[in-house]
Amino acid sequence: AHKLCMIPGPIEFHDDVLAQMATPATSHVDPSFIGEFGASLEMLRKIFKSAKGQPFIVAGSGTLGWDMVAANLVEPGENALVVNTGLFGDRFGECLQVYGAKVTHLHAPAIGAIPAHDEVVKAVKAQKYKVVTITHVDTSTGVLQDVKTLAKLIRDASPSTLVIVDGVCSVGGEDLDMDAWGVDVVLTASQKALGCPPGLCVVVASERAMQSFQTRVAPPTAYYASWAKWTPIMQAYEARKPSYFATPAVQTIKALHTSLQQLVAKPLAERYAQHVRISDHVKQTVLGWGLKLVPTDYAHAAHTLTAVYYPEGVAGPALLGALSGKGVVVAGGLHPKIAPTYFRIGHMGLSATHEAELKHIEQTLKHLESALREQGFAPKNATKAK
Ligand code: PMP
Repeated sequence: AHKLCMIPGPIEFHDDVLAQMATPATSHVDPSFIGEFGASLEMLRKIFKSAKGQPFIVAGSGTLGWDMVAANLVEPGENALVVNTGLFGDRFGECLQVYGAKVTHLHAPAIGAIPAHDEVVKAVKAQKYKVVTITHVDTSTGVLQDVKTLAKLIRDASPSTLVIVDGVCSVGGEDLDMDAWGVDVVLTASQKALGCPPGLCVVVASERAMQSFQTRVAPPTAYYASWAKWTPIMQAYEARKPSYFATPAVQTIKALHTSLQQLVAKPLAERYAQHVRISDHVKQTVLGWGLKLVPTDYAHAAHTLTAVYYPEGVAGPALLGALSGKGVVVAGGLHPKIAPTYFRIGHMGLSATHEAELKHIEQTLKHLESALREQGFAPKNATKAK
């Protein structure tokens, strides 16, 4: 039997999305597919709120978005600042370095914390950075960054620096407005709050980022990740014309098309508010039991997942094993320094926004509570049996 997949991505998918994965072989230049691809690119502009940005949908995962930023926007020897709130900042920095960037990390003062805003300003004033990267939600710590405020501070302090957002664990679940906030690139993946199976890297680059790309001196330092290759392809699909550079993941893009249609069918603000409500419900429940969150302050805890420490005396593998035995899969810890001490519950997309699927969260909390009891922990304010 299928176990509920309540990890921070891949998430539970809608049946209509899944059905697209089982469609017959279709040419990547079939007019019906071109129409779906083109419409998906247009919907991305709405979701990322980038009227004139360039969207990309390329087979790969979120990680490919880092390669795209590194290979297309940073020339070897240029400086990159990573505003680091967890493992995914470490990894983005590692990727930038592979392409020859000089990477500086501005680390949060503690795991689960965020760097002080004046430290960010000080850093971007201290030397010239081509890009500053911000992880909107770091999936390893459950920390949410205030991208709106940070982007403004960075642009005010260093107008030519490109503001790059890793939105893998946020896009579709956390408020985002590229145009209003002055964000240059947002990269994400299909398998989280966009509600599609894994397999697609999704990126939107602002007009300013594309200008920076077009005026770079040396050619991009990658082949498959090169925007020189992909930009004409995306423009062709949007113009509903056939084109080819490398074969797109036809079925996965059809699935994305369906999930994006569901996403834009309702106001985005409503969707984000639903994520806040579900997140508060999960967090208040586990806090009520006496557990402790990984984010050091509730105000910067993400709304797409909850990262929470195991209570004292409860062994992680036993608890997660017991929960899985009850049909619910959550994720263990990921941050290398504290991995064995905490776990993560994903609550984005379908499970946060569709009436029928809200029961996913109830089932998760109910079974988690009984698994905790079986492991010898007595939750303080246990939920009343319904
Ligand atoms: N950034 C963040 C914030 C992530 O959560 C992840 C995946 N968990 C990635 C990047 C990498 O994405 P992917 O696993 O799809 O390559």
